[in-house]
Amino acid sequence: MIEIDGSQGEGGGQVLRSALTLSLLTGLPFHIVNIRARRSKPGLAAQHLKSIDAAAAISKAEVQGAQLGSRELCFKPGGLRSGRYKFEIGTAGATTLILQTILLPLSRASSASTVIISGGTHVPASPCYHYIELNWLPCLRQMGIDATLNLEQAGFYPQGGGRIQAIIRPSPRIRSLNLTQRGKLLDLRGISAIANLPRSIAERQRRQALLRLQELAALGNKIEPKIKIVELLSPVKGTILLLMAEFETGRACYFSLGELGKPAEKVADEAVTRLAEFLESEGAIDQYLADQLLLPMSLADGASALRTSRITSHLLTNAEIIQLFLPVKIAIEGEMGASGFVRVSPQSSTWINPVEK
Ligand code: ATP
Repeated sequence: MIEIDGSQGEGGGQVLRSALTLSLLTGLPFHIVNIRARRSKPGLAAQHLKSIDAAAAISKAEVQGAQLGSRELCFKPGGLRSGRYKFEIGTAGATTLILQTILLPLSRASSASTVIISGGTHVPASPCYHYIELNWLPCLRQMGIDATLNLEQAGFYPQGGGRIQAIIRPSPRIRSLNLTQRGKLLDLRGISAIANLPRSIAERQRRQALLRLQELAALGNKIEPKIKIVELLSPVKGTILLLMAEFETGRACYFSLGELGKPAEKVADEAVTRLAEFLESEGAIDQYLADQLLLPMSLADGASALRTSRITSHLLTNAEIIQLFLPVKIAIEGEMGASGFVRVSPQSSTWINPVEK
């Protein structure tokens, strides 16, 4: 039984979700206390509870302590089972975070799975659907993971109401990845999306983003940013401006969400400012992708490396949790808040891969 203190480092939901993923992959049970101790409302919220439900469903796990507000949990997985799964969060909790919890384990099952998750798809403090589709999944594909995603309907904070679908096929091995040099900027694309709001808002977001991007000397004058206006199907109202920069061997994705009373221009400004900060850093990838690639890199059949635009406590904490479960060395060089270099060296590929029961 692996013992985890959920208050360590970042002390948020990722400690729990990474533990679930790692437990599913290795077959090792874990006991966690102080769940989300560093959050204003500690304990399990709807999204975390549904991550546990999802992890339990795909592995017939024995679970104790899975209640709203609970700060302690025991999780003992059985064998991984592919299948058709449906998970409803019931709030605007992030569907993408639940998908990230179970995608790698399902890719180790013996046949394909279809997963439908309802809840938030574009909510603050989590990767939005388009971030996952355009930034995270392409890296996983490069590593040999075979999955396709579909946004059935968008769900914005605070109501949620979105739905995503994923088809995850078996992947025999996970290849290492090297993301240490950004290289030249090859493409800068964006999405200015609205749901159930006037198209003029998306046009204003787009206009402002293009204006601000023109001022960015770091883009050079050879790259012409393209921002597409998209009307999303959704039961609720919402807007987003997302920018995706692809370099020779690096990538970064930043977005900003609309809110009641927040001008369209401010939404655009926020996303451009985040991208501009990235361009000024030495990072080859954005700081979110860095913490989200650590786990897949730890499963690869060779050493991986990345240069992140910023060392975050999510990154440091995730490294600690991964090393509790897997025979892997994760070396992080750099100062917290500054750009940094990460080397992920799996020591053995003999971690237990549970068979389907
Ligand atoms: P909490 O415990 O804070 O309620 P949580 O369960 O949502 O949180 P965290 O531990 O904060 O989880 O993890 C959030 C995850 O979302 C991290 O992997 C982080 O990189 C990712 N994330 C946050 N903001 C963004 C963003 N703007 N773009 C992409 N990913 C993001």
